Amino acid sequence: MAPHTQQLTTAPAAAAVPAVPAVQLRGLTRSFNGRTVLDHVDLDLPVGQFTALLGHSGSGKSTLLRAIAGLDHEVVGSGQLTAPERVSVVFQDSRLLPWRRVLDNVLLGTDGKEAAAKGREALAEVGLAGRERAWPNELSGGEAQRAALARSLVREPELLLADEPFGALDALTRIRMHVLLRELWERHRPSVLLVTHDVDEAIVLADRVLVLEEGRIGLDLVIDPEVPRAEYRERLLAALGVT
Ligand code: ADP
Ligand code: MG
Repeated sequence: MAPHTQQLTTAPAAAAVPAVPAVQLRGLTRSFNGRTVLDHVDLDLPVGQFTALLGHSGSGKSTLLRAIAGLDHEVVGSGQLTAPERVSVVFQDSRLLPWRRVLDNVLLGTDGKEAAAKGREALAEVGLAGRERAWPNELSGGEAQRAALARSLVREPELLLADEPFGALDALTRIRMHVLLRELWERHRPSVLLVTHDVDEAIVLADRVLVLEEGRIGLDLVIDPEVPRAEYRERLLAALGVT
């Protein structure tokens, strides 16, 4: 006698909308002179997330950032790399052209009246209203980095990559820049990847902190603001082998 089988019907699963990440890396690999710096890196950066990347000096942070920025042609083909079209990069030095005034630096590569207005607006946003006609060498280190941020903003980037942007600034200026960067992020919501070697900077600014070690993402922490920062600090320092 055939057992009575009941066809179990289940409600169709709610159509899961796959969240397409802003950046997707699969198996990204990069070597220099036979030495592997990035070893099959897998990484997803969700749209709008503020992520920090920590790692020892020489661990490959800048190499990874350059790859995502599309600045490293050698890395292409080593794996899979997806990144948005509009990417802005900020480095430790402002890279302002000394022979162009601040506003002209901000506007470099853009054109039209509308761009000029946006440039002024961006300078005001970073606290440099009135400094449009200054020369880069008239700016302090912090002001130059503000101008660099303004230059990245006018491009309305989907992804902002920053490679130790505050590394050369004094401690107080750095704190003011943290506040500014976080404000800009909250207002414009680009996806951010901030490379830093400063554990506290990473925890204060980012919603997620990654540690690059031995060519891979060795630690991946989501920062819950309810959890005391000291706990993250300890875990990150341990991962970095500092404790
Ligand atoms: P980090 O930014 O974490 O300090 P980098 O990504 O700059 O580290 O460098 C990682 C390693 O790759 C280092 O050992 C560095 O010397 C090497 N490297 C980076 N760029 C090049 C290059 N263009 N040529 C040769 N070696 C490089
Ligand atoms: Mg670096």
